[in-house]
Amino acid sequence: MNVAFLTTECFPYVKTGGLADVSGSLPKALQKLGCDMKVFLPLYDTIKTIDNGLYVNEEFKDIPVQVGDNTFTFNFWEGTLPDSDVTVYFIDCPHYFHRGKPYTDDKDEDERFIFFQIACLETMQRLKWSPAIINCNDWQTGLIPSYIKFNYNWDELFKNTRTILSIHNIGYQGRFAPSTLQKAGLNYDNFYPEGPYELDSAFSFLKAGIWFADLLTTVSPNYAKEIQTEEYGAGLEGVLQMRSKDLYGILNGIDVDIWNPEKDIYIPYNYSADKVDAKYKIKKHLIKEAGFKYDENIPVIGLITRLTGQKGLDLIMPVFHELMQLPIYMMVLGSGEKKYEEFIERAADAYTDKFIEYVGYNNELSHLITAAADMFLMPSLYEPCGLNQMYSLRYGTVPIVRKTGGLADTVHDYHEHNNEGNGFSFEDAQPYVLLETVKRALHVYQDKKEWKKIMLRGMKADFSWDKSAKEYYDIYENLVK
Ligand code: ADP
Repeated sequence: MNVAFLTTECFPYVKTGGLADVSGSLPKALQKLGCDMKVFLPLYDTIKTIDNGLYVNEEFKDIPVQVGDNTFTFNFWEGTLPDSDVTVYFIDCPHYFHRGKPYTDDKDEDERFIFFQIACLETMQRLKWSPAIINCNDWQTGLIPSYIKFNYNWDELFKNTRTILSIHNIGYQGRFAPSTLQKAGLNYDNFYPEGPYELDSAFSFLKAGIWFADLLTTVSPNYAKEIQTEEYGAGLEGVLQMRSKDLYGILNGIDVDIWNPEKDIYIPYNYSADKVDAKYKIKKHLIKEAGFKYDENIPVIGLITRLTGQKGLDLIMPVFHELMQLPIYMMVLGSGEKKYEEFIERAADAYTDKFIEYVGYNNELSHLITAAADMFLMPSLYEPCGLNQMYSLRYGTVPIVRKTGGLADTVHDYHEHNNEGNGFSFEDAQPYVLLETVKRALHVYQDKKEWKKIMLRGMKADFSWDKSAKEYYDIYENLVK
């Protein structure tokens, strides 16, 4: 079964969030199940062709794509996802993709991803490669179902092609002026209030995908339910309810080779559920590096995140000083909105002996903090799946989360009276509820034996792609039938 996986970020080439981890690992797992996977990705200027062993396809060059009144050409490069035989095609158009980062606020953001989508289909045509499935991801590829249905339906190559749109975050909808329809080469007939392309008078790529894809997936069972409600649907709950029977919630897996405390190359000591002591050596190491005084009875709380409203920073800020009166160290790694970056910088200035922040994006440090911390804080207002809590569980780092989206599917609240629970969770999006939950975790932390049991429950759980990739495989197969 030929499957094209269209994505705008993919680890290890380019990453801003969880989509990159999924794109770098799910296709590998599906390939093992027997799919012939091909990943398509823009060649951003941050992706180094030589370092990544990419080579340009010499047979087809300077392929033209018209976006509105402009025509630009592209070449495509080929590479292989590390430790696999999954081919990745990189769409190379410097005009659109040399911007220093994947996503921008530039005026032609719509054109950039219209170009990408058309270029992917043009590449398949040049290669005479007929996909049974095109798995689109997020708004940047939301027009593909329309293209397959309307603009490319003349081509036998796509005669049997079915489309799937995977929604990784309903908050990003690709909203543009209605005039973008012309640039996209799509029919205005489908642009009317509440219609396929219209959302609050704008043209939404995501809505177009939700409307026209043959099937929809999202990244956890709970989020699949949530996005059909007004509270979480971000205006798209109506169309999602309409497509309810075609919407599947499949929990993301994690790359258990990369995120494996036994083999992790970024941590100074490796450990496992059977030999968990080395974890404390890493904690000591990082605490010393941070310049704090080490006390083994004081837990480290880690926080690694894009600094956006979604991640619940507004629940932390109002109780931050109370939080800092508790016997904890905090290590925060993040980048994003200025107000949150400034907040963590001020926090570090105020609590030099127990709070340390790293503003920026740092993959190595994210592994180190995940391993060193005793607890991981993730108070998201909404969380489609969330990967960090799964990484933390695997590293014996007990998550403290708000019970929403995929966090609710993966973190089970500890309760002293039953032998269950791999973390601590709370429902109300209230700062003092967060504070109380941290206190509850600290209280249990004093009971070393009990704490270890909680850690081990997390470390022994299976978050690999094995089960979830099979679910993707099954829906691909049903769709093709
Ligand atoms: P989202 O996709 O909403 O950002 P996820 O939890 O699904 O959230 O995935 C986030 C991914 O990005 C994780 O792999 C996390 O470790 C990583 N990440 C986020 N911020 C940083 C950072 N500042 N430095 C390194 N890795 C980060």
